[in-house]
Amino acid sequence: MMGFSVAVIVVLWVLQILFLDEFYYYTTKGRMQASISQLTKAETAELPKLAGKIAVNRQLSIRIFRIENIDGENSAYSICQFTSSGSILNDITQTGMNALYDETVSKKSTLTTRLDRHEIKHLLGVPDDMPMPSGVEIPDRLIVSAVQTNADGELLYILLDTPLTPVDSTVSTLKNQLIFVTVALLLLSIAIAFLLSTLIARPIKKLSKAAKELANGNYAADFSADGYREVVELSDTLTYAADEIAKVDRLQKELLANISHDLRTPLTMIIGYGEVMRDIDGENTPENVQVIIDEAERLNSLVNDLLEISSYQANNESIARDALNISETLTEVAVRYQHLKDQGGYTFRFEGDDGLWIYADKKRILQVICNLVNNAVNYAGEDKTVILRASSDGEAVRVSVTDHGRGIPENELANIWERYYKVDKTHTRGVTGSGLGLSIVRRILELHGARYGVESQLGVGSTFWFELPCYKPNEE
Ligand code: ADP
Repeated sequence: MMGFSVAVIVVLWVLQILFLDEFYYYTTKGRMQASISQLTKAETAELPKLAGKIAVNRQLSIRIFRIENIDGENSAYSICQFTSSGSILNDITQTGMNALYDETVSKKSTLTTRLDRHEIKHLLGVPDDMPMPSGVEIPDRLIVSAVQTNADGELLYILLDTPLTPVDSTVSTLKNQLIFVTVALLLLSIAIAFLLSTLIARPIKKLSKAAKELANGNYAADFSADGYREVVELSDTLTYAADEIAKVDRLQKELLANISHDLRTPLTMIIGYGEVMRDIDGENTPENVQVIIDEAERLNSLVNDLLEISSYQANNESIARDALNISETLTEVAVRYQHLKDQGGYTFRFEGDDGLWIYADKKRILQVICNLVNNAVNYAGEDKTVILRASSDGEAVRVSVTDHGRGIPENELANIWERYYKVDKTHTRGVTGSGLGLSIVRRILELHGARYGVESQLGVGSTFWFELPCYKPNEE
């Protein structure tokens, strides 16, 4: 900020003070030289009109002569004269004109001369110790003279004169102004630099330090920061991100511990029962085989959950919707589970309207229902009853899975849909779960744009439900 201000100040000083005089001189000179070339390009008859116009527009005094050479002697005939009252072209002596002419010819026919008081007097034929003739302006003057042939082939002697307004007084005014601007700009830049550093740079440095700590695994890194609204928003976002990362990290660690336990227990059982059946006569009973099958199923469902979750983490899942008779699907699920779990004393019932259709991905909706039914089985109550329902209000079909188990505490209801979340953190044998089932359910339902939820009462039971629009299969 300071660097920028100093650069601006330097540029201002250089342009306004140091080079103002030069700049003014070169612009005036350029203007006069352009006028000369314009005049030499014109035909003689047009000259007076053009010269008059240039004199007025560019504030120049102009005199133009035609030079004729008769018997080796040059004679000058005036073509036109437009001179303002202060111009030296009004009072220049014949000798002065001749001297200028000779010098112009010797300098390749154009001459630009900056004349000071002394030289002006000389051209006017006034001795140095005498005052200027009245009306002649004192400041330096710029004279451009040219001896050139014009469009009609005539040799012209053109004289242009203009005062060089002294820039000293302008410079001193500008200097005072610039001193003021410099001080003001420096003070302002100090104030802005201070403000920026307090409000933006410092908090951002702090946030970046905290982000580095976070990257090194310190989830408690302090992201609080004051300053501009954007800085505060950034700090809030980072705090939120750090909390979420910490949460996922904690859940993942728990999951890893749980999964290793969940994988090891059934494997130990399978190996143990297998060895007993191999080594001990009479132990090869259907009950023992059933234990092995149950444990293998447990492993299977765990591995399936993990596969499913890693597939949606990779964001590569898509849904393929089709007409689906949900009443029929639920009946089938109830029958299948009844068959599977009959021996365990479970009852599965479908209650609800027949012939309800939705438009959804059959495989995935089946997965939702199975995950909900698995949970209902895992957490079922004494009556070991799971009820599947489907009903419709004409617009949406509501599907629900109810158990009469232990229920879910109200303060846990929002968390159960989170990945890796388990209400019961202890490891109860018989209830295996990765904490992934409901997060898979949520993901699939969100992909379908379904409404979903849970109603649960501790000790009474839970009902998990979702709603999708009704579909009439003959609509297409
Ligand atoms: P899990 O594989 O552990 O069952 P879920 O994501 O399916 O994981 O469920 C998350 C948690 O929600 C479970 O650990 C359990 O505490 C609770 N939960 C899910 N369904 C039920 C239910 N029907 N009754 C009681 N608690 C349930």
